[in-house]
Formats: sequence, C-alpha cells, structure tokens
Amino acid sequence: MVDIECQNITLGYSCNNNCLHCVIGYGARKLYPDRSTSEIKSLLDASHDSSAKKVILIGGEATIRPDFFEILEYAKKLGLTVCLETNARAFCSEHFARKAMSIDPDLEVMASFHSNVPEIQDLLAGVKGSFYQSRKGILNLKKYGLRKLSADTVISRLNYKTLSDTAGFLKNLGVDESYLTLMRIEGNSRTNFKELFIPIKDFQENLFDALDLAERKGMMVNTYGFPYCTLGKHCRCAAERKLLRIFRENKQHIFNELCQRIDWQKERPSIKAKLKSCKSCRHFGICEGIWREYIEEGLLCGEINPVV
Ligand code: SF4
Repeated sequence: MVDIECQNITLGYSCNNNCLHCVIGYGARKLYPDRSTSEIKSLLDASHDSSAKKVILIGGEATIRPDFFEILEYAKKLGLTVCLETNARAFCSEHFARKAMSIDPDLEVMASFHSNVPEIQDLLAGVKGSFYQSRKGILNLKKYGLRKLSADTVISRLNYKTLSDTAGFLKNLGVDESYLTLMRIEGNSRTNFKELFIPIKDFQENLFDALDLAERKGMMVNTYGFPYCTLGKHCRCAAERKLLRIFRENKQHIFNELCQRIDWQKERPSIKAKLKSCKSCRHFGICEGIWREYIEEGLLCGEINPVV
C-alpha cells in the first residue's frame, strides 16, 4: 500500500482578498460552492484513517468560515497536524488569534505575503489596509505561541523589485521558511496578465539577490515553479526537490480539490512542460519543467537552457 504523506483539503474558494494573481479567479468561485462542515469533517476522518499525519487546509480563505474553529478543533481531536494556508488578516483580532492557538497550539501557518511595501501588498491582495491586517495577524499568532511559520510570495511585475526587502521583512516578522513562487497564468492572473507578467530573465537578478539575502539571514528559502536551469547556483532551493523525495519514498501527496481528488505525483507532469532541447539536460530526469502555459503561450525569452 502507498503511504499518504500529506493531504491538502480545499475548504472552498470564498475569500476576503481578491488577489490580482489568484489562480482561482472569479469564474471558479462562482462555479464551485464551498464545502459544508460535514464534508470537511468526512475528509478529515479519511485523512485520519489513512497514513497521513498532516493536513493542509487551503481556500479561498479558511478563516472567514463560520465553522473555522469547529474544523480546527475536529482536526486536532483526530490527532492531525494542521497547516493552515491563510492571508492571516483574520488574526489581526487578538481574540481570534488567541482562540486559534488555544485550540491547536501545534498549528502551522503558511501566510501569503507578497511585498514589504504596504501599497504593493494592498494592490496585489485587492484590499486596502490588508498589509497592516496581515502583518498584525502574524504578530498576534506569534504572540500566542505559533512555532512554525512559513510565507509564500508570488512574483510579478508589481513586486519583483521588492523581493529582497520582502525577504528581510518576513525574517523580522518571525518567518522560518519562505517560498518564492513563479506566477501561473490562470484565473485572475490571466485576466491581469498585462499588469502582472514579467519574463523570468527580467527578474532573475532580483530573485537571486533575495535568495542570497534570505540565506544570509538564516531563513530557509525555497523557490517553486522555477525549472532548475533558471536558478543557477540556487537550484538546491527548488521546492520540487523535496516533493521528489516524498515520491521516491513511495509516498503520496493528495489534493482534495473542490471538483476532484488529485494525486500530485500523477498531476505534476500535466501542468508543467519541458522543451525538446531539455533531453540533453542533466536535470532532465528530475526536472518537471515550467508551467505549461509559459511554453504553450510563448512566454519564454530564452531562459530555459539545458545544463550539461
Ligand atoms: S530539463 Fe529543461 S527545464 Fe529542466 S532544468 Fe533542464 S533545461 Fe531546464
């Protein structure tokens, strides 16, 4: 039997942000209703009955659900480790942060944070004042005992110049591990393509500076979505390497999306692609390539070059 390392559970697409780069987008939000409390509890039961020790609760935004604490409590009682993907705005209320941490003192949080500049963060999140709420939310969670905090920054034309400062800012906020993600062209980011898209070659230097700075500051830093050949000496930062380890150990990472249940190992090749020239690359066997739309829609500017 294949071990399940981790289960992602999408609670629903409703959100209090409307990020310009959100891959869900308005269309999918309208199409798929949020999961009911009992559906989510059944999925948590199934996770508990499988070999998964960990569940990642994703949205939309889980904290805006009226049953958020009930779900947290249920997962905790099942003995599951919960990682919550969130914009952290709800935790700007001390009461909210304290309650969450008292229900699950082992809660792990992955916060979306895209710039240290309030105006840029607000613009990307689609909500004025969200920078201060997210920042306060994270500080409150730390105040009430949050031990494991990671952050995800999606790179676009609007924030690439702030990547290094953002890395420093996140470190000062108490972030242990950060992810710098190559934007997909899907959902809102497709709608806002002209405003957001920037070729990798135009921000590679900013990316490398941010990776260097994060490492100097002792923060674990990962990239996500970047082919190894675009990362130079930083290719060890690719988060895909960790995923490979999971699969090599014959474990699964399951995504319980609203419309389907996805085995990530099987899904990965369908959302990424490589070039013909990749066959001569020494990373060919382990590299997933780049988001498929970058190749299919001609968005590359010579960044993919086989490493020999
Ligand atoms: S296989 Fe292709 S995309 Fe991957 S690192 Fe090599 S050249 Fe780049």
